[in-house]
Amino acid sequence: MPGERRHFQATSYKAASSEVARDINRRIVLNLIRTRQPLSRADLARISGLQRSTISLIVEELIKEHWVLEGPTGRLPRGRRPTFLRLNDDRVIISVDIRPTQSTVALADVNGKFTAQQIMDTPADPKAGVDALIARIQTILRLCRGKKIEGIGIALPGRYDHVSDRLVFAPNLPWRDFDLRTPIARATGLEVEMENAANACVLAAVWFERPDGSHAVRNLVVVTVSEGIGTGIFLNGQLARGFNDMAGEFGHVPLEPDGPRCGCGSRGCWEVFGSNRAALRYYQESTASAPAHLTFQDLLSLADHGDPEATKSLEKMAHYLGRGMRMIVAGLAPERIIVIGDLTRSWRLFGPIIEAEVHDQVLPGGIPPRVIPAHEDGMARLRGTVALLLQKHFGAAPSSYN
Ligand SMILES: [Zn+2]
Repeated sequence: MPGERRHFQATSYKAASSEVARDINRRIVLNLIRTRQPLSRADLARISGLQRSTISLIVEELIKEHWVLEGPTGRLPRGRRPTFLRLNDDRVIISVDIRPTQSTVALADVNGKFTAQQIMDTPADPKAGVDALIARIQTILRLCRGKKIEGIGIALPGRYDHVSDRLVFAPNLPWRDFDLRTPIARATGLEVEMENAANACVLAAVWFERPDGSHAVRNLVVVTVSEGIGTGIFLNGQLARGFNDMAGEFGHVPLEPDGPRCGCGSRGCWEVFGSNRAALRYYQESTASAPAHLTFQDLLSLADHGDPEATKSLEKMAHYLGRGMRMIVAGLAPERIIVIGDLTRSWRLFGPIIEAEVHDQVLPGGIPPRVIPAHEDGMARLRGTVALLLQKHFGAAPSSYN
């Protein structure tokens, strides 16, 4: 009968919605504990607006599932002694950062604290590379007895298509069209998640850095500057991957079509003018006596010690970096641009040049973004892979309770 049918639908709708609500409440509680730990059940109820009984149910469940620990008893005025909650750091993530020359396998807990790390040369052959990675991962796994392993997160120097499960664009690493996930998942029995390195840096910024302490940034772009230039886009509170996961390749937009050849096959791309390699090229071109194997760190040190040609080369790189960022500002209107790379070591010298270039071309009515150097000691990609594994439990952008 029609009446009975309506009644049945209403019941199933109610069941579904309470399940969704429980899931949302659980994420709220997990995120509050993550960002404000240690805190008590009473704090959780007060900040979230959820009922004490709801908080208690969720907390008991989280403790049982090894997400949360009850810490030492706190002491408040008037003799009250609440029990403080924090994330259980026996829940761990294997974190992998593959770079064109060197790769890192590390062990992190849910708070993004690293407790072990192995560095290896990256083989040019993908099969040899995966075998070497598996050996390092197995070594790290031996340190994990008694811990709950969440999975393996991998940051890659290229675009990873999550539909075809392949590295589709990696101009600086010859591992294209190779299945990385299956052999690693098979050898370890663990879940494996992949992400582009610049996107991983976005996740690290959204998850682990709260420069203002108060509000969550919903529009930011990370620019990684090393051999090339990568960008990760966080727009309207979400990572923007685009069709085929290729979004963010501003580094390969040609600024000068007659410029030097780029690793992507084109000419005069932004990264040919604004990367570490570009600054080294400017220096070699201007200095006849420049040593052939000069590194970018050497160049920074020379500038630090007042070498005028080194300073000029890095200034030229900074001008181009800022000029390229205009594309990002005009196209995406980010609130912040976070710069990651060795150049941030000498931000005092070159940061103002980048900022001036960006500010110079803001459109009428537009607000220039803050350009911020990330002093991350090469850890942003690794931290991003931790967020990559955790986001399905915490939600993709869990910083709204900061
Ligand atoms: Zn290119």
